[in-house]
Amino acid sequence: MINDNIITRDMYDKYFLPFYSPASFIPIRGLGSRIWDQKGKEYIDFSGGIAVASMGHCHPELIKVIRNQSRLLWHTSNFFTNKPQLKLASKLIKLSFASYVFFANSGAEANEAAFKLARLYCIRKFGLNKTKIISFNNSFHGRTLFTVSVGGNQNYSDQFGPLPGNIIHVSFNDLDAVTKVMDESVCAVVLELIQGEGGIIPADILFVQGIRSLCNKYNALFIVDEIQTGIGRTGTFFAYEQYNVVPDMLTIAKSLGGGFPISALLTHKKFFSVIQQGIHGTTYGGNPLACSVAERVLDFINRPKVLKGVTKRSHFFMKKIHKINNQMKLFKDIRIRGLLIGLELIPEISVSMSKILEICSDQGVLVLTAGKRVLRLAPSLIISYNDIIEGMNRFWQALKKL
Ligand SMILES: *Cc1c(COP(=O)(O)O)cnc(C)c1O
Repeated sequence: MINDNIITRDMYDKYFLPFYSPASFIPIRGLGSRIWDQKGKEYIDFSGGIAVASMGHCHPELIKVIRNQSRLLWHTSNFFTNKPQLKLASKLIKLSFASYVFFANSGAEANEAAFKLARLYCIRKFGLNKTKIISFNNSFHGRTLFTVSVGGNQNYSDQFGPLPGNIIHVSFNDLDAVTKVMDESVCAVVLELIQGEGGIIPADILFVQGIRSLCNKYNALFIVDEIQTGIGRTGTFFAYEQYNVVPDMLTIAKSLGGGFPISALLTHKKFFSVIQQGIHGTTYGGNPLACSVAERVLDFINRPKVLKGVTKRSHFFMKKIHKINNQMKLFKDIRIRGLLIGLELIPEISVSMSKILEICSDQGVLVLTAGKRVLRLAPSLIISYNDIIEGMNRFWQALKKL
């Protein structure tokens, strides 16, 4: 037995493969947008578990639903269907362009399913030559070998041997660049409406609409990755609603489970006919516990009050951030879409990003990075104004130390 009192951060380095280097403190409890560590120190959480904890930590409604479902049924596999997955699927379909869903457990898995299905469809319908995938520099789609290959960051893909082929990357928000590489051999164009990991960079509306037309012209599929932007994050339930386009496939994850792992691929009818049973699958995907939580998250977030609340909080953050920046001039660009906020630091700041996060957590506020020079905030969609005020004060104190 390990005694709770001797659990320390050092144990991480002793036991874990060093893919990560977590903060020096250990969060042990959360409530709403506050977190407490092993020493009782309290933090305001602007990181939201990387845009995941959309209803904050330990929301009573999610506790209730997980309690109830945990007494009924946890897991049965896809040899059986279950009530929570049927209810969740019907609600997602009602809310979106989609006619069909596939559930998985992580963003990468939803994208993996989308990319495989796109290839399958194009090969079945148009032949073996239609497999080219167009993606964008700096994009992020997950960490499986296929998803890092589609992603636009070579640091994540180039040391793992042979990669899935026929994938090309062009510059983001550059429609001419896409037009140049479009032809009949293109199977899919894959896009984040706001590049999240890449630095909170929104796609221009004409760029997105232009891609949609090119895809129509060349019979290519338009795959939109809303793993970070979906489920209310930008003030509408899906971000694509703001672009006046309809994708062929849409992937969601992060906020969907409010912290319980679940992801989904949403798509329309035309893919149905190319699928034969068993050609793709998952053990956990569509698990009753995960789906019951996600259904509750969906019902909770998809209310005018909550979605309008995202936009109101967004404006509130914007005011506070501009006020700080007018005094300190630390950000050369401020990019805010709902409660996804990117603050690009001026080049003069030489403090490392990891050190900045440490200074912030010392002051009692948790923030994230995105890309090389961007601080990212992705708080709970229902964070209280008090927590925003207190968190921004702490953030300001931290920035003064730079
Ligand atoms: C986080 C993220 C992913 C990957 O999700 P995982 O759950 O880590 O696999 C994919 N695409 C986007 C846009 C993301 O933000």
